[in-house]
Amino acid sequence: MSDSISTAGESLEYRTEVKQLLDILAHSLYTDRAIFLRELISNASDALNRIQFELLTNHEVVDAEAELAIRLRADATGRTLTISDTGIGMNRAELIENLGTIAHSGARAFLLNAGKGQAAQEEIIGQFGVGFYSVFMVADRVTVTSRSFRPDEEAWRWSSTGDSIFTLEPATKSTRGTEIHIHLKEDAAEFAQAWRLESTIRKHSNYVSFPIFVEQVENAENGGTVAEAAEAAEAVQEAPQAVNRRTALWRQNPSGVQPDEYTDFYQQLTLADDEPLLHLHIVTDAPVNLRALIFVPGTRERTQAHLRPEYGLTLYSRKVLIQEHNKELLPEHLRFVEGVVDSEDLPLNVSRETVQGNPLMRQMRRALTGRVHKEIKALAENDAEKFRRFWEEFGIFVKEGVVTDPASQELLVDLLRFRSSRTGNDGWVSLKEYAARMQEGQEVIYYVLGGDLKSLAHSPHLDYFRAHDIEVLYLVDAIDGFVTTSLRDYEGKALQNVDDANLVLPADDESAVQPASDAAPVSSAQFDALVKRFLSVLGDRVKSVREAKVLVDSPCRLVSDEESYERDLERFRRLTEEGYTAPAKVLELNRKHAIIANLALALEKNPNEPLLPAAIEQLFDNALLLEGLHANPVEMVAHIQQLLAAAVAAKA
Ligand code: ADP
Ligand code: MG
Repeated sequence: MSDSISTAGESLEYRTEVKQLLDILAHSLYTDRAIFLRELISNASDALNRIQFELLTNHEVVDAEAELAIRLRADATGRTLTISDTGIGMNRAELIENLGTIAHSGARAFLLNAGKGQAAQEEIIGQFGVGFYSVFMVADRVTVTSRSFRPDEEAWRWSSTGDSIFTLEPATKSTRGTEIHIHLKEDAAEFAQAWRLESTIRKHSNYVSFPIFVEQVENAENGGTVAEAAEAAEAVQEAPQAVNRRTALWRQNPSGVQPDEYTDFYQQLTLADDEPLLHLHIVTDAPVNLRALIFVPGTRERTQAHLRPEYGLTLYSRKVLIQEHNKELLPEHLRFVEGVVDSEDLPLNVSRETVQGNPLMRQMRRALTGRVHKEIKALAENDAEKFRRFWEEFGIFVKEGVVTDPASQELLVDLLRFRSSRTGNDGWVSLKEYAARMQEGQEVIYYVLGGDLKSLAHSPHLDYFRAHDIEVLYLVDAIDGFVTTSLRDYEGKALQNVDDANLVLPADDESAVQPASDAAPVSSAQFDALVKRFLSVLGDRVKSVREAKVLVDSPCRLVSDEESYERDLERFRRLTEEGYTAPAKVLELNRKHAIIANLALALEKNPNEPLLPAAIEQLFDNALLLEGLHANPVEMVAHIQQLLAAAVAAKA
């Protein structure tokens, strides 16, 4: 060390790397500078942990009876903040070693990334911190006075303005521990306000296990009288209240935790004001030590609110915060879940840097994911009402999981709920329930894709199913096409889109299907001529035109004769890809429907009837619209007006 630290009286030079770090920090634009407090409090907490351990075997220490605590004093007038602890303290050599070189792993990572730009640096400051030196983001002068726990040591004072040197001098301090006196930069005056400190402590250090007290120094010059200030100071001393909650709820025995404590904790953690839908308290030691409190929030909205733009669990190791917004501990589709995870197996000191890719993290992820899934499944089985709420808020994430997470698919499939021709707008049906109430002879699970429930009610595909009272699942979410594409079947029963040209129908009893038509029957020759005319008007916008077998109330419909599930994605692609047109489909005409029958007759009467092409275009547009596939409905206006004009003229 002596090679880079030159002793000039009591002025010492920082190591080059520290100088470099300080220089970057002093000019840092990092916005959440409040994290310096987390770093200093975590150091104080470490020092307290160490003296606590020492005291187990050794009572020959300075101030053996002192309360293990952290105290903050904010002086707005002097623009200072003092943080003191009754921890293990430092002697002269330790001050030089610890505050003259880089101890903190985050600081080292920070330096390694120094060349990689602002974003990389900010991420490290935010996620890992850079240890003690982060104080220079807010301080223009720092004095550390410390007295080691060893009775024969003197107190020493370290001070620095954050440039290239620090100074050391003997100090008088009769009590054990460390006091850090910070003179704040002008633009960091907020940290001389108790309320600001308190909110930061609750945010970042709430579960530090030692009490943290905050005191605002009332200054007589600050407005009030000396007497008032003294009174206020006394009031503070009378009832010192630790700002932090201290009890690490997740490390307690679940049987000793009250339900409202979970709610309270959830609200502190997430800044929510509602009740969580679910909470899980996980306590396990195998295969990995795990203490966790996991919440499914009450609503989805809040997790999307700008207050919490980041999702992810809060990771602790033995109550020390390692990382907020950890995204590795759960699969992405569970990102609506909030909570705290603590593992004693995670090594404390190196963990902030190496938490990513740590094999322990994978084990924890497996355990956590399994438990969350299991709990939601139990909810589905045991509490229909609550599960319904879950589904309505978070069902979309379950669908995402089915599509994106093959490992979880089997379990998630049973959580899926759908609207159907039977449930309408009021209820939900699971695939299991659907399968259980399938009709005699029904072999597949039918679904229809559409833009919304209202337009599905008019879907021509449903004619047959209505007439036969066969349940059809209504799929209206943009993601649904992906769900059917990746599922394909459920317990051996294929999922079939009702627009399938080769629809498998149970007991195909055509006699039961009677269109409400008073039109004169159309001969085969008349119908074939109409089919030809449809083809010539629509051209390659249709793959073919043919007679419909299963239509009742609808004049026509579009069906897909492709085997592939690709078409289930057409609606999604139309919504997301500019200029997308779905591949041509087969147009089926209901020969018994009045419109079709009358068109056939009109064609025979006058092959040049001008209304024919307009009517054909409009029927095709209607079919596209009902599929949610019309590229530009405004284009229909011209046909509609032409048809209207003719209808009105006929009555005039
Ligand atoms: P880290 O905490 O990761 O070791 P820091 O930069 O935060 O890195 O702190 C550097 C070192 O300074 C600590 O390891 C510790 O030895 C010492 N230190 C800092 N604050 C205190 C304190 N309040 N009491 C005792 N030692 C401290
Ligand atoms: Mg530290």
